[in-house]
Amino acid sequence: MTGVISLLPEGRQGLLAPPRPGDGSFGGENVDGNPAVDGYLAVGGYAPLVAPDRLLDRIAAVGLRGRGGAGFPAAIKLRAVRDAPGPRVVVANGEEGEPGSVKDRWLLRHRPHTVLDGLRLAAAMTGAERGFVYLSDALAERAVRRALAECPPELPVEVVRTEHTYVAGEESAVVRRIDGGPALPTAKPPRPFESGVGGAPTLVANVETLARVAVMYSRPEEAEVVAGAHLVTLSGAGAPGAGAAGAGSGAGGGAVLVEVPAGTHLKVLADLCGHGRAEAVLLGGLFGGLYGEGWADLPLDHDGLNAAGGALGCGALHFLGPEDCPVAVAVEAAAYLGAQSARQCGVCLSGTGAMTKALVAVAHGEAGYDTVAKLHRWSQQLPGRGACGLLDAAARVVATLLAHFSDRVDAHCRSVCPACEGARPEDGRRFRVPVP
Ligand code: SF4
Repeated sequence: MTGVISLLPEGRQGLLAPPRPGDGSFGGENVDGNPAVDGYLAVGGYAPLVAPDRLLDRIAAVGLRGRGGAGFPAAIKLRAVRDAPGPRVVVANGEEGEPGSVKDRWLLRHRPHTVLDGLRLAAAMTGAERGFVYLSDALAERAVRRALAECPPELPVEVVRTEHTYVAGEESAVVRRIDGGPALPTAKPPRPFESGVGGAPTLVANVETLARVAVMYSRPEEAEVVAGAHLVTLSGAGAPGAGAAGAGSGAGGGAVLVEVPAGTHLKVLADLCGHGRAEAVLLGGLFGGLYGEGWADLPLDHDGLNAAGGALGCGALHFLGPEDCPVAVAVEAAAYLGAQSARQCGVCLSGTGAMTKALVAVAHGEAGYDTVAKLHRWSQQLPGRGACGLLDAAARVVATLLAHFSDRVDAHCRSVCPACEGARPEDGRRFRVPVP
């Protein structure tokens, strides 16, 4: 088993296509980037776009949704920028703030031409005259700069490096950083499609979204499969298969990057990467909440998870084994989010702090039912009150802990469990995984 696996039908693998025999290339691009563009051109990349509206209609017809986390329909975003008065800007957003996700950095490191091709197509569809690639990863930056030098794009493209933080990839933070400010979210409206980089209507698109657009354009017959597939990062501390997956050994264990059709059951994914003993899962990096009983039958797609009260987010799944206490995981997630708060919104600073403090008290057997009641109230009242999704993520972790693990929370109110005694709320190390 390697660190990247495609579950798409044989011969139709999209972004994780295996090496082509004989030429050493990987999905059309060379793994070592030497030279990558020949392989990419050979699989139909950078083909001239003669009818941008037709491609946009295809994107709408197959229902491609953005892969940054919110799952917003890609065609609506593209049309909003196209229909705004010019000049316009497009941004490939490769800054993934969720600590359990590696897909965007992997794409930029190993598929820079596919992402840049998607950016070029997005510019053509929206009528944009300038493009940016926004990232924080040094290896990704090197790959993108090499790709730009190898095949200069039709539109001017600038690479902008940012700090790696939880909120740096939020679209208003992206605009603010490109404009020379700090990578911090701003109040909305206006949204970037109304007033983005330099005040111009701006499309901020996740790099996986753009890569899917590029593959859909060069392989129209596979558009539906490509649009419906997801890149998912699978991890789980101490899972037996983590090392065998060949993804290295980071603090959070190994990571496996998988491309799967929408609707794949989570149990399939757990088994696939050696987390067969998993008893629960944390969804969407830290954004989608905790799930216990019934998690195995959840389908991997936005609608299915939303219906179950969760969220797919960026698609990262962290499996919890029998040795992991969900209360300890919630403490660590809330504390990590609190530490990553941009401290701009008072409600976020006080809300994440209060929830973390209460969760620590629960974990250490020092809380009563009044604390649990407070946690419940905060988890219902706080979502939507910050300028970005960080506070929502913390509230969802709390809400899903209380909803799906009430027996464990109950037990903690009476005594401390061994797993939580050792919990280190301050560092969030269990969620960080290496890029395969
Ligand atoms: S909700 Fe929190 S992280 Fe988001 S902008 Fe406000 S203070 Fe910053």
